[in-house]
Amino acid sequence: MVVRRIEQVASRRLAGKFAERNDRSDSLDRPSSDGTRPSSDDGSADTDTETLLNPLTHLEEVQLLDTTLRDGEQMPGVSLTPADKLEIARELDAAGVHVIEAGSACTSEGEREGIRRVAREGLDATVTSFARGVRSDIDRALECDVDGVNLVVPASDRHVETKVGSSREAVVETTVELVEYATDHGLWVEVLGEDGSRADLDYLERLMRAGLDAGADRVCYCDTVGAAGPEHTAEVVSRLADLGPTSLHTHDDLGFGVTNVHAGLKAGADTVHGTVTGIGERAGNVAIEEVAIALDRCYDIDTVDIDRLYRLCRRVADVTGVVLPPNKAVCGANAFAHESGIHTDGTLKDGAMYEPYPPETVGRERRLVLGKHAGRAGVAAALAEHEIDVDEAELREIVSRVKELGDRGKRVTDADLLAMAEDVQGRERDRHVELVDLSASSGGNLPTASVRLRVGDEERVASGTGSGPVDAGLEAVRTALEAGSESGTRADGSERSESVAFELDSYHVDAITGGTDAVVTVAVDLSRGDRSVSVSASDADITRASVVAMVDALDRLSAVESNDDDDSVSDSAELPEQAE
Ligand SMILES: [Zn+2]
Repeated sequence: MVVRRIEQVASRRLAGKFAERNDRSDSLDRPSSDGTRPSSDDGSADTDTETLLNPLTHLEEVQLLDTTLRDGEQMPGVSLTPADKLEIARELDAAGVHVIEAGSACTSEGEREGIRRVAREGLDATVTSFARGVRSDIDRALECDVDGVNLVVPASDRHVETKVGSSREAVVETTVELVEYATDHGLWVEVLGEDGSRADLDYLERLMRAGLDAGADRVCYCDTVGAAGPEHTAEVVSRLADLGPTSLHTHDDLGFGVTNVHAGLKAGADTVHGTVTGIGERAGNVAIEEVAIALDRCYDIDTVDIDRLYRLCRRVADVTGVVLPPNKAVCGANAFAHESGIHTDGTLKDGAMYEPYPPETVGRERRLVLGKHAGRAGVAAALAEHEIDVDEAELREIVSRVKELGDRGKRVTDADLLAMAEDVQGRERDRHVELVDLSASSGGNLPTASVRLRVGDEERVASGTGSGPVDAGLEAVRTALEAGSESGTRADGSERSESVAFELDSYHVDAITGGTDAVVTVAVDLSRGDRSVSVSASDADITRASVVAMVDALDRLSAVESNDDDDSVSDSAELPEQAE
């Protein structure tokens, strides 16, 4: 029996624990089990519980070194132009990141141009370049006007002997020489012992001490391949932190990335390397937004402006093209989304019911999602958001239809909900914007598309170009809508909007069936001012599905607006003016 086996294991564990506790009362001088320093200054007994309960009381602030532009860019498939680097660096600086590792100056002229632009931007952050343990790398970094270098020298025998074909002694000598060279040129220097987590600890200590003695500002513990656990991290870092200021550079191959940061900070480190959203080689780096929110919430330790974290993640995702995993802390689409009926109901009564902290903390908003777990409260709230009044019987019917659609494995969009409400209440949908015709071509150098839209009672034709047919199609829609929005004033004398500015908050494509003849579903979230709407459309043609979804979303947004403003019948075709 499974249950019995679980209880046997539990009772063996408890018996062992009690026996251990009795032994312990005999020996007060027991060394700590995980190699960390004694747990408290007041000389109280160093029990396991006290070790766990010994939080980061010695730190008020932890500095973040962001390496999105170097280690993050080393992620396969990510390549940043100088303009991309500058854009991300500005966001990092605005958030208050302390050090920006802008790239690796030895890589290429384009890379140097990117680093140079970041270094010359006059940011508050210290701007650095990665440099291997060779003098020419430091020269290249100097050409970029950086404030400092992250000097990486081999630390494990695997790297010392197999990778660079050197010896421990020679590496120490070179390190001393390079640190002196860099500091002589006015650079801030951090020495990183590559693969330090798998290095001989005595040697690593000697190497790092030599770097500090030669004038380095700090050293860095590197778990280059993410191979260590928190106990080993604490042991190594506590030795390094006794030598001088120590940073942490951990990877997430075992899923221990942030745990090791925590262990390292407890062991005496004061600076954390990470990337926005954790992008990086293999399983990635530590996500700086996770470090920042965890230190803020659990220990009241300052890092960066946490209310800018989501914005930062979105910007990096946009620029790098690496999508945000939906279930990721801080930045995932579901981090503050609630679908389950019980959760939605509880959340509507008290926002903290199913959230560890309010979404606004990191610059986000709560989202209620409808699906098969939806309940009455969630559906009623969603309808209210679209200003639709329903009676009890109508609400019951709409809830059952939402569940039915959810049961078929479909995401229930706002458009689905609105269509259900129209059907249940016997209302005719009065379309404001409709796609009449679409043609797109991706041959040649410049993908183009043209659309014919019915907007109110007029037909508009427009074409657009873009990076691909979908982009061109959406541009054509934008142009068609803008064509009618520039001329003068409305019938009631109010100003017409200058443009049809709307935000495409998300665009997602799913292939429903495998193979090249797959039907795809395109889901878009579109917002304008404080209104937003989700719509999906399916078609075998991805361009068509995209444009249909987009046009439907625009139509729904304009319908909401004209509900607010029922007297402007002749203008119902106009998209609402921007809120700002
Ligand atoms: Zn790394």
